[in-house]
Amino acid sequence: MEIILMDGSFYKNRTFHASEAGDPYPKRPRNETRVPVPSAVTSAPLADTLAALERATGHPPKPNGQGWISRCPAHDDHTPSLSVSVGHTGQVLLHCHAGCDYPSIVAALGIAPSPPANRREIVATYTYRDAAGVEIRQKIRYAPKDFRIRHRGEAGEWIYKAGPGPAVLYRLPELRQAIAEGATVFVVEGEKDCDRRAA
Ligand SMILES: [Zn+2]
Repeated sequence: MEIILMDGSFYKNRTFHASEAGDPYPKRPRNETRVPVPSAVTSAPLADTLAALERATGHPPKPNGQGWISRCPAHDDHTPSLSVSVGHTGQVLLHCHAGCDYPSIVAALGIAPSPPANRREIVATYTYRDAAGVEIRQKIRYAPKDFRIRHRGEAGEWIYKAGPGPAVLYRLPELRQAIAEGATVFVVEGEKDCDRRAA
C-alpha cells in the first residue's frame, strides 16, 4: 500500500499556550486565526483505506456527502472527525478535523509513505486570447489526465477559475485572420487537435 502526502501542518506557525503543554491535540483558542489543517493523500485504493480505518479504529467509516466520515485512528476520537474523499485523479484524501498531522494518521493506519512521485504534472498549456491577442485565460492539462482553467490575478498570480474575461474561441486571433483571408476553417474536437491541425 502506498501513500502520498501533501504539505501543511496544523502545528506549524501556531502559538502553543502553557496550559496545552503535554496535550498532544490541544484545542484551538477561539480568537486564533485559522491555519490550514493537514490533509493526507493516499494512493491506496479506497476500499483498502476504508478497511484499514475500520481495523485501526474498530468502527466502519460511514458514507457522508461525497465521501465518508471515520473515527480518526491518530487520536482518541469519539466523534468521527476524519473525512475521507476521492480526489480528482482518483487518490484517496484523508483529513482530520481535530488537526492530526499526516505522519500520525499514516502510522496509525499502517500505510507506508512513498515519495511524491505520483503527483500530477502539467503536460500542456492552452492559451485563450481575445481578438487583440491578449491572454484571457489558460486551460492546462495534467498527467494523469485532468484539466483546469486558470487566469491571472491582479498581482500576476494564477487563480484557478475562468475569471471575468469574455468567453473566447480557442485561437481566436488566428480564426479572425483566417476569415479575413478567406481561408478554410476546420472545427476539431479539442485544443490538442487544433494545435496539431495548425502545425
Ligand atoms: Zn485525528
